[in-house]
Amino acid sequence: MAFYRITYHEQYRFATLHNWGCTFRCPYCSYKLRSGAQGRPGFAEPKPERFLGVDELKKVLLDLHPEKVYFMGGEPTVAVELDEMIRFAKLELGAWTQLGHTNGSRLDIPLLDGANIGFKAWNSVLHEKITGRPKDLIYNNFRNAFERGMKLSANLVFIPELVGYDELEGLAGFLGGLDRRIPFHISGYIPIPGQPWRRPDDAEMEQAVALAGKYLDNVRFSHLSSSEALDLRARDDRFQVRIVAGV
Ligand code: SF4
Repeated sequence: MAFYRITYHEQYRFATLHNWGCTFRCPYCSYKLRSGAQGRPGFAEPKPERFLGVDELKKVLLDLHPEKVYFMGGEPTVAVELDEMIRFAKLELGAWTQLGHTNGSRLDIPLLDGANIGFKAWNSVLHEKITGRPKDLIYNNFRNAFERGMKLSANLVFIPELVGYDELEGLAGFLGGLDRRIPFHISGYIPIPGQPWRRPDDAEMEQAVALAGKYLDNVRFSHLSSSEALDLRARDDRFQVRIVAGV
């Protein structure tokens, strides 16, 4: 698993390295919305024809000289070049380094400034059922990174009939127990064809946000339809990036 694309945002001066692959098996993985591989478990983006080597990644970043370098997936921590690229971004470019989205499997990474962790569930059995991996690994990684001073944010996909209010409240309580100011985003589930769950309605989203707000001061949410999720550029200018390397 490796990086296959770099995108760049001219105005906000951030570059993003995109990795292919993931270690989790979430049945409702949102990457399936684009790939059309609804019947397969977990991450199911088609394998890119070409990956970018370390020298190519560094050359592109040197030319861009971004203020921030983000690493995304799939799951970015499975990229074998990750640690070297973070070191390069930090020490050679002087950039802020952040996992733009991660499942939290590995956060003890030298010179990493920040991470946005996508939690899946609070209940241990449900967590293992959804992801195929133990819950404690992720929650302990988050706690340890927080105690080391990493800048963290968190999110959860809210699926009323699977990852519902109990899961949300357990996670919000955990985060609030560390620091009420940790930013927390609730994503209303976007239905994946072939999966049995429905999208939450407006009242359910409102209740979810209010519940999280009992434990946390900085709660935001999104409640997108499938078509809106496929056209994020039109909704948020942070997605108005251009591909500068790879496919
Ligand atoms: S952790 Fe994220 S990328 Fe990986 S399978 Fe789950 S939803 Fe997909």
